[in-house]
Amino acid sequence: MEKDRRDIRKFPDPILREKAEFVEDVNGDIIALIKRMEDIMHRAKGIGLAANQIGIRKSIIVAEVDGDKVVIINPLILESYGEDRMEEGCLSIPNTYIEITRPTGAVIKGINEEGNEVQREYGGLIARVIQHEIDHLQGTLIVDYLSPSEFIKFQMEYEKISKGEDK
Ligand code: ZN
Repeated sequence: MEKDRRDIRKFPDPILREKAEFVEDVNGDIIALIKRMEDIMHRAKGIGLAANQIGIRKSIIVAEVDGDKVVIINPLILESYGEDRMEEGCLSIPNTYIEITRPTGAVIKGINEEGNEVQREYGGLIARVIQHEIDHLQGTLIVDYLSPSEFIKFQMEYEKISKGEDK
């Protein structure tokens, strides 16, 4: 359990800023990686995880909200609509919660675990989680939604918190 906790890369780890690469072939290694991502997400009590959060630059996200389980390889937002503001946390930025405005719903295209192209519309919390995870694949983090002065404040507080945390 502790090992998995350490598997999650924490801000300011540079890999969190790198863009994920498209997955060309959904082979056994990719399926094994997805299973590992789901395990780590569950153990960390998270509701979403992107592959680069565990140090792997592949375009894969997993999410689970109220039993609605989502695995999307090479996810792409085709369209989005509405606007909603809500506080978000991130497994890679412990003890930090930031209010973020995002579209309420989105149509997402991608590839499923069978290697087939899929397209689905998501709304509510799961739509928010998916958009948060797609941000990760682009190297974007919740702290990027802060104003410059809010970001400086965050950094000071985060440093304090990080020093106190078990490594
Ligand atoms: Zn996150």
